[in-house]
Amino acid sequence: MQFSDFIGRVNEPQTILMAKKTRELKALGIQITDLTLGEPDFATPKHIIEAAITAMHEGYTKYPPVAGYAELRQAVCQKLATDNHLHYLPEEIMVSTGAKQALANVILSIINPGDEAIIPTPYWVTYASLVALGQGACTFIPCNVDDNFKLSAEKLEAAITPKSRLFIFSSPCNPSGAVYSREELEALKNVFVKYPDIYIISDEIYEYINFTGRHQSIAQFPELKDRVIIINGFSKGFAMTGWRLGYMAANREIVSACEKLQSQFTSGANSIAQRAAITALVADKAPSMAMTAAFKERKEYFISALNNIEGIKINNPEGAFYAFPDISAFFGKSDGHTHIQNADDFTMYLLNTGHVAGVSGAAFGTESGIRFSFATDLDTLKEAVEKIKTALSRLH
Ligand code: PLP
Repeated sequence: MQFSDFIGRVNEPQTILMAKKTRELKALGIQITDLTLGEPDFATPKHIIEAAITAMHEGYTKYPPVAGYAELRQAVCQKLATDNHLHYLPEEIMVSTGAKQALANVILSIINPGDEAIIPTPYWVTYASLVALGQGACTFIPCNVDDNFKLSAEKLEAAITPKSRLFIFSSPCNPSGAVYSREELEALKNVFVKYPDIYIISDEIYEYINFTGRHQSIAQFPELKDRVIIINGFSKGFAMTGWRLGYMAANREIVSACEKLQSQFTSGANSIAQRAAITALVADKAPSMAMTAAFKERKEYFISALNNIEGIKINNPEGAFYAFPDISAFFGKSDGHTHIQNADDFTMYLLNTGHVAGVSGAAFGTESGIRFSFATDLDTLKEAVEKIKTALSRLH
């Protein structure tokens, strides 16, 4: 059958493919320690679930407005003011089916064929796929473990061309865990002010999973605010991945363009999830804080254990729930059967021989890394470390 050129530009994320392979091995009875997961291993807090039940009884079961309920958009404005000292009007907020749809709306509203999107690596897989759907071109800027996976102003400026139209990054970063400080963002801002045609997508979905203290947004700089699109959502900070709810904050023109697109694709996001999300934002955040404290404890164990394995080089993630070690020291090595040439080989070796599942750094644009999620309990992490040690000790 002949499909459209458009569908030819769509590829399935590596993260999902890896989860599939892991399931296949498990079905054969092999005990795989799965560190591929991109979601909290905690349940959605009870008070949020209760709010959803109440919403259904109250009749919030009809089509909601395309851009989201007014009360939710207002609650997002309140959150941005309280947490981030950022002032937005409800018409500058748009609610979507996950942060993923918010990202798709923005990228497809801004990118024209041939436009360039600048993306520091490693990056979250979906950014590049969405740019490709819009027939844009990605300019990747390699960042590495020695820079703590952070982009400098010099590297940013060197990548800008007259075709640059978008800059896309996440902080805290999936997969590196890098968290930009105010000073680091200010240095990037000083570059962007010289290039007024570039819009900045600031993906802040891991905002609450921050081990350093206060979250910083690049939207805090008044010279840039109108060109920054904040992407955020409920999946990570409130353990609500299945509820599929995210939002963007941006200038009104961008929001209107995205509203037009969303009105044809999906209409408003799930009405019940939206009502529950109001409660998530206005109620006490103690469950989110407890979850972050648990991630921090696991991170401390896991990073130091990985750091003690010869050949692994690792940064200290300051947010999100991923470790992203540099494993390039193993390239060129073999256990007598499998020759490791790159991150894909390393990941498959670890899965097939070590029975630990991670995601190859190639999926995130960084060939020297592998992503392990620590959104799993300490015992599983300890088991993973032992298995990784054993598998790697066989490589010479
Ligand atoms: N942005 C980043 C950096 C992510 O890691 C994810 C999910 O893994 C998303 C956005 C999408 O989140 P959502 O579940 O809200 O679509």
